[in-house]
Amino acid sequence: MRTKLTATAATISTCQSCGACCAYARDWPRFTIEDDDDIARLPPHLVEPDGSGMRWTGDRCAALSGDIAVHVACTVYADRPDVCRACVEGDDACNMARARHGLPAITG
Ligand code: SF4
Ligand code: SF4
Repeated sequence: MRTKLTATAATISTCQSCGACCAYARDWPRFTIEDDDDIARLPPHLVEPDGSGMRWTGDRCAALSGDIAVHVACTVYADRPDVCRACVEGDDACNMARARHGLPAITG
């Protein structure tokens, strides 16, 4: 998800027009199974000072660009934490985050 900001409207994926899970809770984009090398690939300014996960700024992960529910991109997509990879369109976590932002659940 969230690969390019230059995609045309016709090619924007559900995630690229959402971003709700990236703006759900400060402790969502936390590190779990990442090792030191994984974390070192991330820009230091996008990591929480205590190393617990991605930095949270305002109401969202600092790595998220764009406007939620319009068009977003993860600026560290290739190196994003495992919890971000694990959140899949239409699963319980996804729909919980979408509900927080007033977006309809993804079903089917
Ligand atoms: S909440 Fe669901 S649809 Fe939205 S970006 Fe996350 S995984 Fe994608
Ligand atoms: S690292 Fe990327 S995918 Fe994960 S919460 Fe931040 S912007 Fe979203």
